[in-house]
Amino acid sequence: MRPAELRYTRALTTEDLGQLLARGDATPMAGGQGLMRDLRNRSMVVSTLVDISRLTELAYVKEDGDALEIGAVTTLAAVAADGHVAARCAALATAAARVADVQIRNRGTVGGNVCGSWLPSTWSNDVGVVLAACDGSLLVQNGAEVRTLNAREFLAARSNPLAARDFIRALRFPLAAGSAYVRLSRRWADASIGSAAAFVDRVDGRLRVGLAVGRISERPLALDSVARTIEADGIDSPTVGEACAAATSSVEFADSVQADAEYRRSVLPVIVTRSVREAMTAGGIQ
Ligand SMILES: Cc1cc2nc3c(=O)[nH]c(=O)nc-3n(C[C@H](O)[C@H](O)[C@H](O)COP(=O)(O)OP(=O)(O)OC[C@H]3O[C@@H](n4cnc5c(N)ncnc54)[C@H](O)[C@@H]3O)c2cc1C
Repeated sequence: MRPAELRYTRALTTEDLGQLLARGDATPMAGGQGLMRDLRNRSMVVSTLVDISRLTELAYVKEDGDALEIGAVTTLAAVAADGHVAARCAALATAAARVADVQIRNRGTVGGNVCGSWLPSTWSNDVGVVLAACDGSLLVQNGAEVRTLNAREFLAARSNPLAARDFIRALRFPLAAGSAYVRLSRRWADASIGSAAAFVDRVDGRLRVGLAVGRISERPLALDSVARTIEADGIDSPTVGEACAAATSSVEFADSVQADAEYRRSVLPVIVTRSVREAMTAGGIQ
């Protein structure tokens, strides 16, 4: 099918974008790799599309204080290839490199990726899992005002929490000594069965863990109680599996062609412990 009739326009600066969104009926399109599928099958109808893919102002990687800040329009391919991201936040580099295939990564952006949960045909967002694990945030602009949103709340929302005139400027990933992302799929580029992101640090001699999982249900899910169990009992303790089961007892696990709910539930502790172990190795933490 073809999209329903719509107006198309392009923003080359954030000022342009702010003005176009201020009209109240416009939807940003970054890489179009999620949005176009829904426009084509008409599970979404929009009146005006604002193409932000050439908004170079919002395509950047920088370290700012204790966080890595990635402009929202930075492509997944650029993030995956960035040496600074790989060195400082391996979980993010791996997640960006594991999204779909090279064509989608060349067009798809980190900002579009974290909005994936609200598109009717998409329920994966690999970058969102990493952002939830490190308890990161989003910089959101409306007119001249820029505010910070907690990423976990943003990602857990049942519908898009952005107002009509909002756009995402950047994603902020607090840094840790080590991080890792484990994505389980039958073949490399297949949709994932489940994924886990871990951030680990030593603070005052004590292990600190940040943890989230994706594709077990519709939204990335932070597993704080499992992280506390690992900090207290160690990664090899049998209590870790019990903590995973307890933390997800009310979660409706997804059934999909990639794996059924039962398989996803049983594999969860495996990907969780694997991600924490890899993060500890990367961070030189015993
Ligand atoms: C075949 C296929 C396989 C895929 N596999 C994966 C996968 O393995 N893992 C995965 O995570 N995703 C996957 N996706 C989903 C998608 O390609 C990616 O999530 C991609 O990163 C989306 O980014 P985009 O820039 O193309 O977003 P778009 O499609 O342009 O936008 C997506 C949504 O985000 C909003 N948006 C985008 N940028 C902004 C901004 N700066 N401010 C406010 N709102 C914004 C748009 O309005 C829209 O609602 C797949 C998609 C397809 C078609």
